[in-house]
Amino acid sequence: MSIPVETKTRQRKYPFVDMKIADHTVLNSIEGRFICTECNRSRKFFCYNCYIPVGNLGALLPKVDIPVNIDIIKHKKEIDGKSTAVHAAVLSDRVRIFTYPDIPDYTKDDDVVLIFPGVTSVTVAQLFNKNVRLNTENNYGMPKGHNIGTMLRRRLEEIVEENQQENGEKKYTFTTLPIKRAVFIDSTWNQSRSIYKDKRVRSLKPVILQNRFSQFWRHQRGSPRWYLATIEAIHQFLVEVHVNAWGLNPSYEGLNNLEIAQAFYETVTMVASSHSEDMAREDPYNGQYDNLLFFFANMYDLIHKYYDHNELKSYRRPI
Ligand SMILES: [Zn+2]
Repeated sequence: MSIPVETKTRQRKYPFVDMKIADHTVLNSIEGRFICTECNRSRKFFCYNCYIPVGNLGALLPKVDIPVNIDIIKHKKEIDGKSTAVHAAVLSDRVRIFTYPDIPDYTKDDDVVLIFPGVTSVTVAQLFNKNVRLNTENNYGMPKGHNIGTMLRRRLEEIVEENQQENGEKKYTFTTLPIKRAVFIDSTWNQSRSIYKDKRVRSLKPVILQNRFSQFWRHQRGSPRWYLATIEAIHQFLVEVHVNAWGLNPSYEGLNNLEIAQAFYETVTMVASSHSEDMAREDPYNGQYDNLLFFFANMYDLIHKYYDHNELKSYRRPI
């Protein structure tokens, strides 16, 4: 007996169902193409050369307020119109895109990280722990002229501070995070290895994200199922930064269907807000960056309207 299509569909969880993504069906009502005000080329929703929306879409688009600057290095062979990197630059003012080999010199900045899975890569959680540990070490030293009373008082203040942090009190702000900029490589699995060979890129501290299954429909030969589209990787990175700095709102369920590795949850502190709907920039994570997936979710829906999920090669890659 064959399983009815409807049952099959229901078994698979729709990845974006509980995310806080603005109504992207507005895109479906846009007809025709528009001229980009910068380069005069004809475009549908946004210009993938100038990274701006076209027509009246600018007034309808959500803007995403992110705590870390993002640089994306794209391979010159990567087809502009197919890349999801542009979504980030259109939806946020803190995203820049460079075409390799024309990239900035990062050698003088030590608070810039490269998102890349390598043997020496550290996790986002490690970036935060290291910072906490360094602070504690600094406070332990007893400067000249300080007596034991001062030291005890210091230690007490420190304990209060540690507890406050455990209770999710705001220790970090958008401007005091241990990372100021993150660099992403936007290319296929194989191209990214060739960019990584560049000394300027290699000198950056590599950071590995927690595994999460990609929902990208575009098939890439030889890439594993957790090789994320650039926009998914940026979203995952920012979520990790956010939960390490400000915790996760326990009433938020948007991450549940993303199949993120268990290790991610081991680093997350649940921090309840007085209002479960709170999502100011330093409130516990409640979907603040989900709108980065505005175009991605819309394209996902469109593709799934025409193709059966289980027939799409991309989702049948080995894990
Ligand atoms: Zn343009």
